[in-house]
Amino acid sequence: MQAFIGLGSNLDQPAQRLISALHALQRLPGIDLLSHSRLYRSAPIGPQDQPDYVNAVARLQVNGTPHQLLHTLQALELAAGRQRLRHWGERTLDLDILLLDSQHIDAPDLHVPHPQMTCRAFVLQPLLEIAPGALLPDGTALSSFLEEVAEQAVTPMSELDRDALIE
Ligand code: ATP
Ligand code: CA
Ligand code: CA
Repeated sequence: MQAFIGLGSNLDQPAQRLISALHALQRLPGIDLLSHSRLYRSAPIGPQDQPDYVNAVARLQVNGTPHQLLHTLQALELAAGRQRLRHWGERTLDLDILLLDSQHIDAPDLHVPHPQMTCRAFVLQPLLEIAPGALLPDGTALSSFLEEVAEQAVTPMSELDRDALIE
């Protein structure tokens, strides 16, 4: 199946964390990293007293089930030292499943498409960068939601910024 994954981090060298996560995904058996967006900087949702986020979206070819992918992503989050401090609070790594082909999944621990994706500019902008024609399972163009999130500040990081954060 083909998957779009949202990546986010706002702790401990976020840009480097996202790049490391992309490398880790690529190395996993059964996962092929097809493409990824640039890195974007975004203001936090939820608690405002936390650092800005760095976000990106990746397109993967995945062997296995949706739940296997979820568990793989959760293992990567844990390996990055993720701790759950508060809802929508700061984290070293967040990996969300955005889309899985045109599947609709409503399991207790897995909702696909990601329920919040259409109201988050930090998801829509990088996703549309790599897949301008991306659709929801019902055929709605994801680009049609961009206008509604136009006031959310999301900026592609310059090459300079990106390199400055890599050691
Ligand atoms: P949000 O989901 O609003 O972006 P969050 O990323 O901070 O919030 P987490 O604490 O990372 O939320 O995840 C909470 C739970 O969400 C996970 O334990 C997971 O089982 C569940 N979940 C449901 N749907 C998805 C999905 N599409 N991708 C990743 N996790 C999901
Ligand atoms: Ca998330
Ligand atoms: Ca998550």
